Amino acid sequence: MSTAAATLADERRPVDRLDAFFEEIAELTGQRNAIDGRLVDIIAEIDRDGLWGSTGCRSIAALVAWKTGISARNAETVVAVAQRADDFPRCTDGLREGRLSLDQVGVIAERAADGSDDHYADLAEVATVNQLRKAVKLEPRPDPTPSPQPTSFITKTVGPGEDYTTWKIRLPRLDASKFEAAHQSHLDALIADWKADQHGDDETFPDGVDAFTSLVEAGWDTEVARRPHGQRTTVVVHVDADKPVAALHLGPLLADDERRYLTCDATCEVWFERHGRVIGSGRTIRTANRRLRRVLEHRDRSCVVPGCGSTRGLHAHHLVHWEDGGLTEPSNLVLLCPFHHRQHHRGAITITGPADHLVVTDADGRELSSASLARAPSTPPPDVPPCRGPLGERAQWWWYTPFEPPPTND
Ligand SMILES: [Zn+2]
Ligand SMILES: [Zn+2]
Repeated sequence: MSTAAATLADERRPVDRLDAFFEEIAELTGQRNAIDGRLVDIIAEIDRDGLWGSTGCRSIAALVAWKTGISARNAETVVAVAQRADDFPRCTDGLREGRLSLDQVGVIAERAADGSDDHYADLAEVATVNQLRKAVKLEPRPDPTPSPQPTSFITKTVGPGEDYTTWKIRLPRLDASKFEAAHQSHLDALIADWKADQHGDDETFPDGVDAFTSLVEAGWDTEVARRPHGQRTTVVVHVDADKPVAALHLGPLLADDERRYLTCDATCEVWFERHGRVIGSGRTIRTANRRLRRVLEHRDRSCVVPGCGSTRGLHAHHLVHWEDGGLTEPSNLVLLCPFHHRQHHRGAITITGPADHLVVTDADGRELSSASLARAPSTPPPDVPPCRGPLGERAQWWWYTPFEPPPTND
């Protein structure tokens, strides 16, 4: 902009400048919404036709986050809209035509009842994301069957994707304080260890989850000491000395991929056998010891598969398996999340070392990289009218009628 033009621009009244900016924001917002609409359609098609199976991704949302460089939460919104686009044709059209934002349609797609498309399509034209969220919340939900509150309970919920399990424990006060004291003492011990060890500033500080795991392991160790035949985190593997065949202790014969997966990073008790007879006494080995793990955690930070970033429960994977003479040392080890570790040993992705020149490919042999697909646009933006956004008025909730599902015949 020339100096003269800049002076001219500055001479306009602030209110006019703001109006001009609002005009441009409306234009860009309309285009952005339409682009999100097209993204949603593409993701819906990839999902419907199962095209992402070969990418090594744990979910379609993970693929979206990776390839677009957006957050996991925003990727979930894209996927929610994609998966319910057929249930909400009018709302999704609003997105495609630039009138509604991804977040507005996302709130509806994530929680609104079936058959409410018309209701919310009208409301979304004027309501903010927060107002839509409240409107969806006001929908009558089927009453969960009231059950008498038990005094204590333990429940387990496996979340979507099955990567995490949520345990909910309710204890009477005495047991709860016993648990708290034990948990706290493990946390204190872990923190003391952490402080005593030489470590970088950015190494993860032990938290409540680590303390809980430590508590469980300690309990288990005691149990094993009391009943030596009871197994704990140790996997007992029977390896035939002449053939690469292994069986879990008292378990079924393991497939090649399962055996390699299990023995990659585990506390293993390996029994060498020939013709079904034990020839080597059991030796318990931790394939990657604590100090080595620290080195790997410092180097890799998270699962090394591009686009993953998972940091919990990582396994130390042998690039060349120890059965094949691979060494348990940093250049032959990388950290993998359990999901990608299993994927690799099943052959869904390949990981080739050494660790400092890692190559990860998907099932089709394409090399994976962490970068998103974003690049400078080469086509004009979508031709849609400007989007001025919701009214931003205070909602009058006492006049609002929530969506009521139509009565069913049964
Ligand atoms: Zn492995
Ligand atoms: Zn991973």
